[in-house]
Amino acid sequence: MDAYDLIVIGGGPGGYVAAIRAAQLGLKTACVERWRDDQDKPALGGTCLNVGCIPSKALLDSSHHFEFMQRHAAEHGITAEPAIDIAKMQARKQKIVSQLTQGIAGLFKKNKVTWIQGHGSLAAADSVRVVAADGTEQTLAARHIIIASGSVPMAIPPAPVDQDRIVDSTGALAFDAVPQRLGVIGAGVIGLELGSVWRRLGAEVTILEALPQFLAVADEAVSKEALKILSRQGLDIRLGAKVVAAKAGKKAVTVEVELDGANETLEFDKLIVAVGRRPNTGELGLDTAGIAVDERGFIAVDEHCHTGVGNVWAIGDCVRGPMLAHKASEEGIAVAERIAGQKPHVDFELIPWVIYTWPEIAWAGHTEQALTAAGRKVRAGSFPFMASGRARAMGDTDGFVKIIADADTDRVLGVHIVGPNASELIAEAVIAMEFGASAEDIARTVHGHPTLAESMHEAALATDRRAIHF
Ligand code: FAD
Ligand code: NAD
Repeated sequence: MDAYDLIVIGGGPGGYVAAIRAAQLGLKTACVERWRDDQDKPALGGTCLNVGCIPSKALLDSSHHFEFMQRHAAEHGITAEPAIDIAKMQARKQKIVSQLTQGIAGLFKKNKVTWIQGHGSLAAADSVRVVAADGTEQTLAARHIIIASGSVPMAIPPAPVDQDRIVDSTGALAFDAVPQRLGVIGAGVIGLELGSVWRRLGAEVTILEALPQFLAVADEAVSKEALKILSRQGLDIRLGAKVVAAKAGKKAVTVEVELDGANETLEFDKLIVAVGRRPNTGELGLDTAGIAVDERGFIAVDEHCHTGVGNVWAIGDCVRGPMLAHKASEEGIAVAERIAGQKPHVDFELIPWVIYTWPEIAWAGHTEQALTAAGRKVRAGSFPFMASGRARAMGDTDGFVKIIADADTDRVLGVHIVGPNASELIAEAVIAMEFGASAEDIARTVHGHPTLAESMHEAALATDRRAIHF
């Protein structure tokens, strides 16, 4: 039986990063991955690279350029008549995905990680059974095992996915034409990102959200502003909408919804179901090894991602915490380092969130509502991009930066942004909070001019009511 120091099950951003870090630290490492791409070729990278973060951002960028050409280029004195070639846009997306997934195979080679293609499961707490696509089986011994099996889209009984009329996020990333009428169930991260892609390309998009609040996880000021901006852009977001049934026909999909106490029937060309994801923890042999899952199927782990059984660890979307690629990767690095005898640390309080609409939405730390509910005395300062010279030069003045600091110590407790390049701006906030910065520290830090980052500086000044430009 082949023996490894570490076998990782799953080659997504949790698993492949853990495998590379372990190999860097001198561990004999294998990664078991069963993914097959659209050409039926084995591929690394998991959800994130194949059908998640990367392809969605490729389409978000392409559709952003199209919208700029269509709606905003003229303000810059540029006129053009843009046209869309969806096949080309999709081919570009797929090329980026292939380059990146092949890049990981290259990184595995460079770091001497063995990629074992096939389905992995625990034969025991110290061995992994792998079944290849052709049915051949092997069992490998492992001193340590990391489960990084990720997540899959959640299904709801009223709207069964057929990947034709009714699709999940994977289907919605692969449309070969712009649907004229697009329905989306769920105004979460995927609903907003993919709803934005197809709206920009010309679809009439209706988003049906069960909850009465919009983006309940975000700071209220951000969710209010984002709802206003995204609605103005043309997303028809219906809150408190209960989907009773969705029926796919030859030409359309009919959706029955309970809205404001009345029943309504809506018709779409395509319907995306984006109501969350669930951990992918079936068929892993967890019972064989005595590993517990919670009532929602997540593998139970402690703060170090240890399952409590032998040397079996679990990371990423298949364990508690936000389902984000960077969270999965940081857990992977930390577990690899712990196995190698180091004492790593992941700050779960400071995992940034980014939603890649335009303007983008990003936050880190606590919301004002959560802090107030916990009885904390805080001072919040906001700065609108309307007052930023750089944002005006770009023609991107929607949104603001909001910084929340402790009223007594001035320590920054949360930063919330809706605005251009919020995805990049939030990094400064995370670093500041990671170093325990006060709002005064940010206010005393010299920011380049003219930059969007100056809005962070001004928001820090605003916590003390001394913003200069607003
Ligand atoms: P995954 O990426 O799901 O990888 C798990 C891997 O394990 C898969 O490749 C699977 O084939 C393999 N596997 C599972 N079981 C077995 C087995 N038994 N044997 C062998 N292999 C197995 N997150 C962000 O941070 N930013 C974003 O912009 C973002 N955009 C997203 C957009 C979309 C449309 C979607 C769907 C998700 C997005 N996410 C984003 C979420 C992100 O993709 C996940 O949080 C991330 O991929 C989780 O990484 P992971 O390694 O835990 O799992
Ligand atoms: P989500 O949890 O972000 O949003 C799901 C939404 O659907 C929620 O608002 C929920 O209230 C609503 N909902 C649930 N059941 C419903 C029903 N029956 N009818 C109507 N609405 C319903 O989930 P998602 O958008 O599917 O994304 C899954 C996860 O993938 C995200 O939570 C995130 O972790 C990850 N992701 C991240 C990014 C990013 O970081 N930019 C992008 C895409 C996905």
